[in-house]
Amino acid sequence: MSSSKYYKKNDEIEIEITDIGTNGEGIGHLTDGYTLFVQKAVPGDIVLAHIIKAQKNYGIARLTKIIKPSENRIKPICPVADKCGGCQIANIDYEKQLWLKENKVRELLIRVGGFDKSLVDNILHPIVGYFDEKENGKYIHHICEYGNTPQRFRNKAQYPIGVDKEGNTIVGFYSAHSHRIVPTTDCYIGADSDAGILKAILEYMSIYHIPAYDETEQKGLLRHVLIRTGYFTGEIQVCLVINGSDVPEKKALAELLLKSEPRIKSICLSPNTANTNVIMGDSYKAIYGNDYIVDEIGGVSFRISPLSFFQVNPVQTGKLYDLALEAAGLTGKEIVWDLYCGIGTISLFLAKKAKEVYGVEIVPQAIQNAKENAELNGINNAHFVVGKAEEVLPNFYNGRMDAIDGMKVDVGSGVLSPDVIVVDPPRKGCDEACLNTMLQMAPKRIVYVSCDPATLARDLKLLCESGKYSVCSVTPVDMFSNSTHVENVCLLSRKP
Ligand code: SAH
Repeated sequence: MSSSKYYKKNDEIEIEITDIGTNGEGIGHLTDGYTLFVQKAVPGDIVLAHIIKAQKNYGIARLTKIIKPSENRIKPICPVADKCGGCQIANIDYEKQLWLKENKVRELLIRVGGFDKSLVDNILHPIVGYFDEKENGKYIHHICEYGNTPQRFRNKAQYPIGVDKEGNTIVGFYSAHSHRIVPTTDCYIGADSDAGILKAILEYMSIYHIPAYDETEQKGLLRHVLIRTGYFTGEIQVCLVINGSDVPEKKALAELLLKSEPRIKSICLSPNTANTNVIMGDSYKAIYGNDYIVDEIGGVSFRISPLSFFQVNPVQTGKLYDLALEAAGLTGKEIVWDLYCGIGTISLFLAKKAKEVYGVEIVPQAIQNAKENAELNGINNAHFVVGKAEEVLPNFYNGRMDAIDGMKVDVGSGVLSPDVIVVDPPRKGCDEACLNTMLQMAPKRIVYVSCDPATLARDLKLLCESGKYSVCSVTPVDMFSNSTHVENVCLLSRKP
C-alpha cells in the first residue's frame, strides 16, 4: 500500500480516540477519514500522537502526550502494566472494558455474521463480568468501583527466563510484540504464590550456575517456568521448560521450591530444544510428585497436566460452563457430542445431566486425562475419542467409524446421533467440514462456546445460511480482564 499524501512518518497530530483495536490500541479518525492506531491511548482521550508508520488510509502512532485524558482512563495497579505485553487494556476502567467487549461482539455479529441489528439487539445478552453473580437464575451485574479491576484471577502463568544487559538472570513477561523480558516476579492477575516460587528458581540457578536460555545463541538450559495453581484445591504445579533433557541437582531444586511453597504437588520438566516460539515441549516428566495437579469446577474434579488446556480464569469458567449447560437444555435423556473437549471439562460437567456424552479432542494426552477424569468422578456415561473434530464427526456420520472408546458404533440405529452438539474450538473457529457435518446431523441444539467473536460470527453465518438453524442467544463472558479477549456462549436451535 502506498503512503498517505497528507500524513507522513514523524508527523505529530492531535486526535480524539474513539475506539479500540484488537490488540488494545486506541483508534481515532481524522476529519478527512484518515485512521490512526495509537498505542496505549484510551477511547475518550484527546492525545498528541507521533506517526511511526504512514500508509495511504491509516497510520500507526506512538502516544507522546495526553492532552485531555478519557474519563475511563485509570492508573493500573500493576507497576509494570505499561511495559508488560500481558495486559493490553489495564489502563481502562473495568466497567468500560466490559462495555468495549460487549460492543465488539455486537459489531462482529452485524459486520461479519451478517445479522440484522435488531436481531442482534434481541439475542445479545449483557456481558457477564468478574464480579457478577447469579441471582434467581440470572447473572446480575455488580458494578466495579472506578479504578479497580479484577486481580489474582488467573490460575496459570508462563514466565520466560533470560539474561539482562548486565548479564543478570531475569524472569518476567515479554513486552508487547517482542521477546524482550520485562522483569517481574509478581503478576497482579496471577497467583500471589508465584513470586516466591520464581525467587526459589532464581536462587537454584544462582547456586548451581544454571544458565538461562539465550534465544539468539540457542544456548543455556532454562527457557520458561509454567506455574499452575488449583483455585479450589490450592495444589500447585511447577514445570520447567528446558533446552535439554534434564536438570542437575533435582533434589536441591525440589527442596528450594517446597521451602518457598509447601502446596507444590508436582514439579515437572518439559524438554524443548527447538528454535521456536512454542513455549512447551511436546512431552513432560515429573521430578517430584505427580505429573498432574487436581482442581475442581462445579463439583467435578479434574487432573491437569502441563500440556493440557484448562481455562485460566476459574471464577469465570464456572459461569461459562453454567451458561453452556443452561443453553444445552438437558433433561437427562440427551445424547451430547462435545467437540474440542480438551481434558473433558465441559463433557463431564454436562454428563451429570445427559444420557451419554461423546467428547472429541485432537491431543491424545488430553483424552487420556479426560478418561481419568471421568473415572475420578465416577462418571460412566462420558466417552472420549482422539481425533480432529472435522474428521471424527464426518467419519462417524458416514459410517466409516466402527468404534468409539471401545464401544461398537451402530450408526444405522441412530443410537449415538446427537440431540445437542457443543463446540469449543480454538481461536480459528470450526473447520467447515465440521460445521457441514453438524448441519447434516441436525441436532436440536448447538451450543457454541467461543474464545474469538470474529470466527464465532463467521461460523454462525454459515450455520444460519443453511436455513436450518437460528441463533437464540449470545452471552459474552469476561474471562480475560485487562485484555481485549472475550469469550462467548451461543445457543442455536433447529428450526421447526
Ligand atoms: N472444551 C475444553 C477445551 C477447549 S480449548 C475446555 O473448556 O477446557 C480447545 C481444544 O480444542 C484444545 O484442547 C485443543 O487441543 C483442541 N483442538 C484444537 N484443534 C482441534 C481439532 N481440529 N479437533 C479437535 N480438537 C481440537
